[in-house]
Amino acid sequence: MMMMYDDIKENLKEIKKQIPSHITLVAVSKSQSVDKIKAAYDAGYMDFGENYVQEMIEKYEHLPKDIRWHFIGHLQSNKVKYIISFVHIIHGVDSFKLIQEINQQALKHNRVIHCLLQIHIAKEETKFGFNEDDAFQILNSNELKTMKNIKIIGLMGMATNTDNIELVKTEFIGLKKFFDKIKEDVQTPCVNMKILSMGMSDDYTIAIECGSNMIRIGTMIFGERKRSIKQ
Ligand SMILES: *Cc1c(COP(=O)(O)O)cnc(C)c1O
Repeated sequence: MMMMYDDIKENLKEIKKQIPSHITLVAVSKSQSVDKIKAAYDAGYMDFGENYVQEMIEKYEHLPKDIRWHFIGHLQSNKVKYIISFVHIIHGVDSFKLIQEINQQALKHNRVIHCLLQIHIAKEETKFGFNEDDAFQILNSNELKTMKNIKIIGLMGMATNTDNIELVKTEFIGLKKFFDKIKEDVQTPCVNMKILSMGMSDDYTIAIECGSNMIRIGTMIFGERKRSIKQ
């Protein structure tokens, strides 16, 4: 093969060197080619993040089956069934309806699906996610206590897209506090807080300082995306 994508492997190595070993690096491969993902896989990386259902399915079909596919985008309930058989973690769970659908579809496949609740921490209106009160209520709800095919293993959040480091820090610290509160106060069988997914190319060092243990990095690994592919 002509192109070995050495730059991708270099970037991955560089990031890995910078981050503590307990932190999982999810390589965000949305809008990137199968060949590029394969290059990263061949260099030993197993965790890839995708935002769009159709795109993730196509990549899943063309790539090694031991890849761990993280769905990090906004997931519509009616599309859960298309990814439920192979998805590793669903990061962007942001409604009770979606929780119910994941649990139901997972039952059909005899799987227990690991999910993260997305919490809205940014100042922007556009980002999806629960506010803390709603998330807390759901985590303590009786309905959730009966669910056996979903496991809520953590939280995911995106900070405001800004140069204001203090604001980003405040948002990440707030999410870490909420994560710790759930760990302390929620006794629901299918809730087990382990993963705090926060930090992207521009803010992952801050996120790690604030207690993140899973970062989602696209641009810094694969370079600028040409255009986001629509669902
Ligand atoms: C695209 C995306 C990322 C990666 O962003 P980069 O800035 O390219 O690192 C991380 N998380 C989510 C939810 C995304 O949509």
